[in-house]
This record gives sequence, structure tokens and C-alpha cells, in this order.
Amino acid sequence: MINLQGRIALVTGASQGIGRAVAIELARLGATVALAARNEAKLAEAVAEIESAGGQAAALSLDVASEDSIKSGAKAILERYGKVEILVNNAGITRDTLVLRMKRDDWDSVLATNLTGAFLLTQALLSPMLRNRWGRIINITSVVGRTGQAGQVNYAASKAGLIGITRSLAREVASRGITVNAVAPGYIETAMTSILDEKVRQAMLTQIPLGRAGTDKDIAQSVAFLASDAAAYITGHVLDVNGGMFMG
Ligand code: NDP
Repeated sequence: MINLQGRIALVTGASQGIGRAVAIELARLGATVALAARNEAKLAEAVAEIESAGGQAAALSLDVASEDSIKSGAKAILERYGKVEILVNNAGITRDTLVLRMKRDDWDSVLATNLTGAFLLTQALLSPMLRNRWGRIINITSVVGRTGQAGQVNYAASKAGLIGITRSLAREVASRGITVNAVAPGYIETAMTSILDEKVRQAMLTQIPLGRAGTDKDIAQSVAFLASDAAAYITGHVLDVNGGMFMG
């Protein structure tokens, strides 16, 4: 049984979908969780759900595409808790279109949110983690960061970039008791994938040996494992949670 009692965690993109499920799972296992995103009403609702189940949580209004917001958000969370021991970089967006139609802003906004945001927030929270000599950094990448996907050069580049950050940082901080891993979800039913039409959805399902779409809980449980002491000897790893859709 995983026990995260006493740990301080921060999850970005925790207002809905995978991030919300991760926050709820980490809190269920005993961690105190800061839930970060832009939608304050949804954050408050998720915090209330955790608290009503007996967990400890706080909402943090944060825009990971803004360096100023990251600086002030990191400051606020460090003033409140002194450290963040488990950081889950989950916030992400898509702006899908074929490469010849892709606007510069489609590229910039996806890279800023999915990749630069994770880099800047990690940097802002790393010093206390290094001093503490214990830490878990978990980056939510995607199967698409490994395989590529037509219509997603921006998104796939951001997710492949997260794998590069994961493996490089894992080497930098290993001697301080900090592990850095990535979770690569396959096709998970959330708001992000609800925009896919039924034909595409059915085509995706035929590619999944386990025969079903994933759930946010499937991802949350993998993140909780990587955050735990049971995963102490795993670093620089990309954990595929995709029903067998891609076997790396
Ligand atoms: P959702 O669209 O349901 O949720 C995305 C979350 O990211 C929201 O909580 C949103 O909160 C937050 N977010 C977006 N932009 C920002 C920002 N600028 N600052 C702070 N938070 C932000 O997506 P999922 O739950 O499906 O996806 C979560 C992660 O998992 C993403 O990184 C995604 O790429 C990845 N993933 C998802 C897959 C899937 O099939 N669903 C497959 C592979 C990877 P708010 O709007 O309140 O800021």
C-alpha cells in the first residue's frame, strides 16, 4: 500500500481531467496537495472534494504559460509549505492542425504551456527539493511524444521535449535523492479527447490491445506509484500507460 503521508505535492492542470484525478489520488494516499490551474471555480470544487474525503488540499491560481504567474505561484506555495516534494507537471493543451496550416501562435502557445511551463516551474521549485534531498518530479508526456501524430507537430514536439527534460534532469539531480520520470498516457477519455469524432475514436480503440480507452484513474495510479518510496530506484523512465497501444 502506497503511503504519501506528510508529503507536499503540487499538481498542475488539476482543475479537471487527469490532473484532477492525480491530485485526488495523491491526497487519498496522504499527501497534502496544491492543485494548480487557471480555473479557480473548478479548483475550489476539487479541493472541496478532497477535503470532504478527509484529505488536505489547497488551490493555487496558476497560468503555466506565464513566467510571472509561475514565479508568484511558486513563491506563494513555498511560503505556505516551505517545499514541494512531489511535482507533477501535467498542464497541457492541444492546437491541432496540419503543418502547412499551423500558425506561429499555435506552435508558440502549445510549447509555452506544455514544455516551457514545466521547465520554469521545475526550476522555481527545485532548490528546496535539492536541500531536502528527497523529491519526485513526474512529467505527463504522451504516446504521441514517442510515435508522432499527423496534425500534432506542435504537441508532439512539446511532449518529446518533456521526455528530454525528464532524462536530462534525472541525471542532474539523482545524487540528491530526487527522481525524475515521465508518464506517457495513450488514449484517455477526458475533455481533451472528447472533441474527437466518433469515427476517430473507434479507429483509436482498434489500436488498443486491452480493448478500451484509458481513464484518468489509470494515469493517477501510475503517478502515485512513481511518487512513492516503492519507486525509489526508478529514474529517467518513461512509463507507458496506454493499454498496449504502443510498446516502446
Ligand atoms: P484536459 O484538457 O481535461 O485538462 C487540461 C488541464 O490543464 C486543465 O486542468 C487546465 O486547467 C490545465 N491547463 C491548460 N493550460 C494551462 C495553463 N496555461 N496554466 C495552467 N493550467 C493549464 O486534459 P487532460 O486531463 O486530458 O490532459 C492532462 C495532461 O495529460 C496533458 O498534459 C495532456 O497533454 C496529457 N495527455 C492526455 C491524454 C488524453 O488522452 N487525454 C493522452 C496523453 C497525454 P485550466 O484550464 O483551469 O487552466
